[in-house]
Amino acid sequence: MNVLPQPAAMARNAQAPLVIRRVDAIPVALPLKAPMKMAAETITAANNLLVRIEAADGTVGWGEAASAPTMTGDTQGGMVAAVRDHLGPMLVGQDAHNWQTLRPALHRALLGNGGPHSAVEMAVLDLLGRASGKRLIDLVGKPKRNAVKPMWLLGNKTAEEDVAEAHAKEKLGFHFFKLKIGVKPLAKEIAIAHAVRSALPKMPLCADANCGLTFAAAHSYAEKTKKAGLLFVEQPLAYDDIEGLRKLTRATKVPIGIDEGIHSLADIGASARAGAGGVSLKLIKLGGMTAALEAGKLCQRLGLSVNIAAKIAESSIGSAAAVHLACGVPKADWGVSITHFYLAEDIVRRPLPLADGFVALPSGPGLGVEVDEAAVARFRVR
Ligand SMILES: [Mg+2]
Repeated sequence: MNVLPQPAAMARNAQAPLVIRRVDAIPVALPLKAPMKMAAETITAANNLLVRIEAADGTVGWGEAASAPTMTGDTQGGMVAAVRDHLGPMLVGQDAHNWQTLRPALHRALLGNGGPHSAVEMAVLDLLGRASGKRLIDLVGKPKRNAVKPMWLLGNKTAEEDVAEAHAKEKLGFHFFKLKIGVKPLAKEIAIAHAVRSALPKMPLCADANCGLTFAAAHSYAEKTKKAGLLFVEQPLAYDDIEGLRKLTRATKVPIGIDEGIHSLADIGASARAGAGGVSLKLIKLGGMTAALEAGKLCQRLGLSVNIAAKIAESSIGSAAAVHLACGVPKADWGVSITHFYLAEDIVRRPLPLADGFVALPSGPGLGVEVDEAAVARFRVR
């Protein structure tokens, strides 16, 4: 605890201190509109952590992280304990303006735990934005764009259902689709890629196996869907199979993306050296906004394509943070997954809207969304 700035240091701040008086870790279960089946799990509700940070002057900031046992190892109970017992107590009494000093101290005190660290940083930045009237993105960098084009995930049992859903979502303004693979027999998944491609001849399409393919299946899928023109195939092999990745990228020209394999800047470098064409950046994997923005810059230096994603599913709190991130990185050429669209109900007053195929960078202070505390109470896990 003695690594943190002492109260006396606060007096030297030019700004009036923004002293954190309370940190709450709130577990919620947010029902999805429809179950999402992936290679290692089927999600029917998002079991997320919300972090509510209150300053002595009554200003409140919010953060969110999805539990992701098969991606980060974070469970909902573990995330609550991380914030309630470790990160929260370190923050109470501190001046939020000292965040750039506090952040590394928190990471030294609690290794891993990308989800809790990310939710805490999101809440602190939201708090700082609300106190200063600045957007979150203006606190951590400069926007490179002011809106993002969200992608929609397709994972039905049949090609007909995927095509029908793609057409319906296209009418709502989605202009980028991702096929969830690694679930059905390979021949069927290859046929679905071709069926969706012929139904949507010019649409950007990609596929995500969530670690669910063998090397032989991954190679076969990439080669046999070539005519479908997939932009990339994401995480076909196990998250730690760097040798398999190296072999696969030598055996096919189809770009391979890495998602579950990225938990640090070092993982991004290792994936690039193994021939990956791009990576998926998520706040929960990298431990927050500061690290994810660094990761975006590293990808630019390494020539990697970038997908920015929230986990299935995060409310408009986590999704707003993903939009700030996607607008702050040098490029997000492999699309952006904004996932509050998959929830049956949101927990903010005005969920992020989709307009003409774009989700705009929120213009309000902090994250730019207003949390509905009554909705939070309704979905709270007790
Ligand atoms: Mg993925």
